[in-house]
Amino acid sequence: MNADPLHIGGGLRPSGTALEVLLVEDDVADAGLVRHALKDAARRFRVAHVTSLAAALGHIAAHACDVVLLDLSLPDSFGLDTVRRMREAAPGLPLVVLTGHEDEEFAVRVMAAGPQDYLFKGETDGPALKRAIRYAIARSRMEEQLRQSQQRLHNVIALAQDAILVVDAAHRITLANPAAAEMFAMAPSILVGLQLEQVIPSPLMTGGAEAAEEEDHIHAVPTLRAVAGFAEATAQAADGRSFPVEVSMSRDGDQITMVVRDITERRRFEDELLRLATSDPLTGLANRRHFLDLAERELVRQRRTGLSLAVLMVDIDHFKRINDTYGHAEGDAVLRAVAAMCRGVLRTSDLVGRLGGEEFGIILPETTAATALEIAERLRLAIAEVFVPISPSSDDGSPPDADRRRVTASIGVSIANAGEASIDPPLARADTALYRAKNTGRNRVELETVE
Ligand code: GH3
Ligand code: MG
Ligand code: MG
Repeated sequence: MNADPLHIGGGLRPSGTALEVLLVEDDVADAGLVRHALKDAARRFRVAHVTSLAAALGHIAAHACDVVLLDLSLPDSFGLDTVRRMREAAPGLPLVVLTGHEDEEFAVRVMAAGPQDYLFKGETDGPALKRAIRYAIARSRMEEQLRQSQQRLHNVIALAQDAILVVDAAHRITLANPAAAEMFAMAPSILVGLQLEQVIPSPLMTGGAEAAEEEDHIHAVPTLRAVAGFAEATAQAADGRSFPVEVSMSRDGDQITMVVRDITERRRFEDELLRLATSDPLTGLANRRHFLDLAERELVRQRRTGLSLAVLMVDIDHFKRINDTYGHAEGDAVLRAVAAMCRGVLRTSDLVGRLGGEEFGIILPETTAATALEIAERLRLAIAEVFVPISPSSDDGSPPDADRRRVTASIGVSIANAGEASIDPPLARADTALYRAKNTGRNRVELETVE
């Protein structure tokens, strides 16, 4: 776009404006050569000339300057020290060193002190000098951009709320931000140098789509190399805390940058949501839908084992009377007590759910009809023993009457066969059995078999 090559890197001046060049050279003849080399381009280069470092620093402080051409042997400064002092006074100013010292090793040392270019005095013909100036300005500009971008990155890393870790190919932590130090309860200086596995023992447990694709690879080689995307893992802090984290990973060559987020709160929230969605708030048992889901799952499992599975339906007898006589709150207390009794009598592997009102469903895995009848009978007797304490609000001061807090239940039992398509048929049979128990006097157990 712009024909002026100086604008490739410089861009410091609008097109057509001369570059301000400061020539620092005590040798009059050498200074003359430089001036001469830039003379034919006088519109582009305006050269100011000083003969000492002190004068150069004074000039820079007072005048605009785009590039400095610096002789290293000055009356008030010599050699590398001249470069260092100039860099110190004007760190961002493009600097081209001019020296008569034709020694490559020395040139390397000079460049390490930070100028953008280095010219032997014999090389200061027009094109070489102009190119050196052009590149010095471009390099300086890029260095500044790099510095800014590094600063920006540093700030982002320092300010991030999430923990940021960078690990090398051997999983050694090479960078840790303040949030990581806080998360893992140790100083960044201690965190850096640790193995990743010391703070995140299992970063590859589960993965997102990308990680899943490379799952085989992950299993074959226990390395993070193949990992990109998300993983959920368990982190371990120095103070002994262990907590769930979500790790986002990005690989760059042999290093991997990881953003680690503590998801304890999210997990708690998810767990709570799940609990609310699957349990009955009054009794804490599985709600109807969840119970039916679990029952279906158990049926599928039963198909694999080939063992029979028993279904029980438990319905409290004359429950309406309890509500009518003692109030709804007392009815609730009875429901809770019966639910707790069911849970207490059964094995942890048995499923108990509240199907509705005062009706409970029970699945007994790997249970024959004979055993199911035994358990149902035990349950019936246990429910008859349920004693619901008199709550203060409903206590009218009358003498304790144990019977009025006692309930009985009728229980229908059925057995699911291996060929059962769903849990519905055995549930329907248990319901039929329950109906019969009600009709034949209540407080009984009935079994419904398949014809
Ligand atoms: P049966 O022996 O035939 O089972 O008679 P029952 O009175 O137990 O049965 P019915 O189905 O006629 O009445 C059930 C009652 O349960 C009616 C309803 O108000 C009550 N109920 C349902 N859910 C709750 C609840 O969450 N809390 C309380 N306290 N009562 C409930
Ligand atoms: Mg009832
Ligand atoms: Mg009922």
